[in-house]
Order: sequence, then structure tokens, then C-alpha cells
Amino acid sequence: MTIWNLGSINADLVYHVPHLPGPGETLEARSLSHGLGGKGANMSVAAARAAARVVHLGAVGKDGTWMVDRLLEYGVDTRCIRSVGPTSGHAIIAVDDAGENLIVIHGGANRAIEAGALFADMDGAARGDWFLTQNETSAQAEAAEIAKSRGLRVAYAAAPFDAGAARAMLPFLDLLVLNAVEAAQLEEATGQGIDTLGITDVVVTLGGRGCRWIAHGADPIEIPALPVTPVDTTGAGDTFTGYLVAGLDRGLPMEQALTLATRAAALMVTRAGTADVIPDLKEIEDVAF
Ligand code: ADP
Repeated sequence: MTIWNLGSINADLVYHVPHLPGPGETLEARSLSHGLGGKGANMSVAAARAAARVVHLGAVGKDGTWMVDRLLEYGVDTRCIRSVGPTSGHAIIAVDDAGENLIVIHGGANRAIEAGALFADMDGAARGDWFLTQNETSAQAEAAEIAKSRGLRVAYAAAPFDAGAARAMLPFLDLLVLNAVEAAQLEEATGQGIDTLGITDVVVTLGGRGCRWIAHGADPIEIPALPVTPVDTTGAGDTFTGYLVAGLDRGLPMEQALTLATRAAALMVTRAGTADVIPDLKEIEDVAF
């Protein structure tokens, strides 16, 4: 089947600086590197690397052609990525010699996606396909409602956490993936335990401790993380979610899909970078943990 992922596409602009600038300070960077990031793009790349068919629903600005090209190169179907306005979503990241960072994010085109365009883009979606989204674009709940009404299964990563966005998504969800901090924030926002929200499957990721799967009405099942030495945990959660949905889309039972996602995320934390370094299926099979 197909995964329709409505998600952010961000340029990660990484400036290497001698120290982090203070208020009012102007500082020349030693170097600049352009990476592809954004939770949405990361999840699309992860699912594509897991051999799923992925259509990315999203937007870039006039400056974002290179990101669309890169997604295409990584096996993502980019036909539904629109060009909206001058500026793509981006993160300005300053990193100093000690590895400390300072980050400014601008949503840009990601926040200018309109529900009307998504109605048309999702015309090709079929019953049994997956719809996936996160909180870095506009129109998530509208798109989830269309997806649900067309018989798609709806998966949602509640990150970065936003109480209003999460509440709007709850009626449509088959699968909710969130980390421990987001789970606590959702419980506070709804006044309910995440196991009482009526969602078929909830997966709480627990960093180096693995994850907890809560199927509706069943006891939670813990899946341990794999022992690795972390280098950079950026993108671990996105890789986990992309692989999980790809595994379910391929027809794997939940526990097997979670095991696959756990392996992919473990390998990802041993690598520096985001979408550009997400491992593929072969790499995951080849590594001995
Ligand atoms: P997020 O990045 O969204 O906060 P987590 O930190 O919970 O998400 O990590 C997502 C998944 O990545 C975990 O469930 C686990 O499988 C894997 N992971 C994260 N950190 C580690 C680690 N230190 N060692 C092994 N696996 C990890």
C-alpha cells in the first residue's frame, strides 16, 4: 500500500562557530553545511528506506528545490510537494567547538499548506493506505479527517508537542507515537491517561530504554532498546516512527514492526545528521547489535 505523509521539510543550516554568539554579538561562522531535515522529511525518508511506497504531502519555498530533489533521490514520491511562497522551512543551527548548539526554526512554507490542496493531492489514496503526520505543518487535522473518511489508517507523532493540535487529531487516530515527555504533556492537556483515549495503538518511546506499546484494552508491552553508544540522537524518534509505519504498511504484526523500528533507531543514534544518514533495510539487517 502507500503511506501519505503530510510533513515538514526543513533545511538544516548548520554554522560552525568558535563560540555561541551572545546578545548583540556579530560572529563569522567558520563553515556552513546544508542538511535535509524536518520531522516530516525525516519520516518520509525513513519509511522509503524501509522499502515503503511514500508520497510526501508538503510544501517548500522557491529556495527549496534542492530538498525536493534530495527526497526524490532517497526514494520518496515528491509529486505532491508544492512550491508556496519564497521561503522554505529552515533551522538555523549554530554549533560551537564543544558541541553546544543554538537553534532558531522558521516554519516557512510548511505552515502555508492549505487543506484544499490536500483534498486534491489525496485523490489517489486508497482504503487501507496509511496517512501519517506530525506537528510541524498546517492543516494536519483537516487532512486526517479526509484520510479517515476515505478509509486510510491514521498515524500521528505528537511532536513537537502542541496541546491544541494533539486534541484536534485525537478523534482520527489509529496509531499515536510520542516520547515520554509528550505523553505526560498529552495526559496533562486531556486530563486522561493515554491508555484511556480509545486509540487502537499507542507507542511511547523511552529513549535508551526502548518503547512501550499500549494496544487498546490490553496490558502494555515493553520492547527494550538495543545497546549502542549514542553519537547523535537527532532524528531517532522520526526514524523509529517512519520504520514503524512502513513495517505495519507491509503487513508486519505490531511487535515485529516495533522490533524493526527499534533496530533502525538504534543504528540512527550512532550517526551524526538527520535525513541524509537514515539507514536502509540492508544496513539494519547487516549490523550485529
Ligand atoms: P525522540 O527522539 O522523539 O525524543 P526517543 O528519544 O524516545 O524519541 O527515541 C526514539 C527511539 O530511538 C527509542 O524508542 C529507541 O528505540 C531509540 N533510541 C533512542 N535513544 C537510544 C539510545 N541511547 N540507545 C538505543 N536506542 C535509542
